[in-house]
Amino acid sequence: MSVLIYIDHDHQHIRKASLEAACYGAKIAQQLGTTAEAIVLGPIAEDLSVLGKYGVQKVHHLTGDHLGSFDAQVFSKVIASAATGATVLVFSNNVSGKALAPRLSARLKAGLVAGAVALPDTSNGFVVKKNVFSGKAFAQIAINTAQKIVALNPNAFGIIAGEGTAAVESRAADAAVPAVQVTGTSKVEGDVPLTEAEIVVSGGRGLKGPENWGLVTDLAKVLGAATACSRPVADVHWRPHHEHVGQTGIAIAPNLYIAIGISGAIQHLAGVNRSKTIVVINKDPEAPFFKAADYGIVGDAFEVVPRITDAIKKLKGH
Ligand SMILES: Cc1cc2nc3c(=O)[nH]c(=O)nc-3n(C[C@H](O)[C@H](O)[C@H](O)COP(=O)(O)OP(=O)(O)OC[C@H]3O[C@@H](n4cnc5c(N)ncnc54)[C@H](O)[C@@H]3O)c2cc1C
Repeated sequence: MSVLIYIDHDHQHIRKASLEAACYGAKIAQQLGTTAEAIVLGPIAEDLSVLGKYGVQKVHHLTGDHLGSFDAQVFSKVIASAATGATVLVFSNNVSGKALAPRLSARLKAGLVAGAVALPDTSNGFVVKKNVFSGKAFAQIAINTAQKIVALNPNAFGIIAGEGTAAVESRAADAAVPAVQVTGTSKVEGDVPLTEAEIVVSGGRGLKGPENWGLVTDLAKVLGAATACSRPVADVHWRPHHEHVGQTGIAIAPNLYIAIGISGAIQHLAGVNRSKTIVVINKDPEAPFFKAADYGIVGDAFEVVPRITDAIKKLKGH
């Protein structure tokens, strides 16, 4: 019996959230006195033995024509057949984890906690702590099934790299016939994908109109950051919908989130409150976002932001 960690990748590199899931899964394996194993589907350029640094002992790398692009139905079927020896399955609660974990839960009849924020308490059963009500409260949930599934919220545990090399076993996966076929993909332009970004600069209605978005993009450019926005901004088409973060948009967990002219409504916070450090720039000292901020600047964005951008440019010698 082992802890099996699903490793997500972009065919080049392992995603940051999966390195964190690997560290988390390895710790659970240590708690349970078992081995930490990882499962990787489809082609990837990176050497998978690197997962040893994050506590994984063995990697199952499954390949096949049907695993060339992500298909939640096919992937969950392949993972289910590889998971027979696993006591605990670990996913990151990211886009692919959210698609796979519930399907595996149904297939394996395994209890699932999605959005875990801490290691399970295994002193008496298997109890997992998770965020509820958009991060307003915590719940402790006991999983009582023989197989258990936990999906870890990105940035909830951290990445601890050590020494070590994992053994990699590559084999062909059982062919699962896809019910749908991806006939083409077109990638959103932009240097940094929002969900992978270490730094995100985000704008709200306080910026008054799309013509002022240079404030956000200039700052993002000097920081090497991705850009995001509040929902009303996307609703009125100042920015594309794929930049909308929050309860009904993308949930992100960067190291640094800079919110400019955003009030900090609960629905917005639900998508960004897992950021490590939050900086809020708002002219209203009573804006609710300041309560969630690590650093706040009370001031007019049109004066403050260009000065920050210039200062960083100077610091970087641009
Ligand atoms: C079911 C539901 C789901 C929702 N989902 C989401 C979601 O996923 N994401 C989301 O973002 N919202 C969501 N919302 C909307 C949310 O409730 C807020 O209405 C929204 O987040 C407000 O966006 P905002 O902060 O950009 O605009 P506003 O609330 O209008 O705030 C603008 C802010 O800019 C400040 N400001 C104005 N001028 C300046 C200036 N010159 N310099 C500095 N600051 C300035 C103001 O003081 C104010 O705080 C949802 C709402 C509902 C009901």
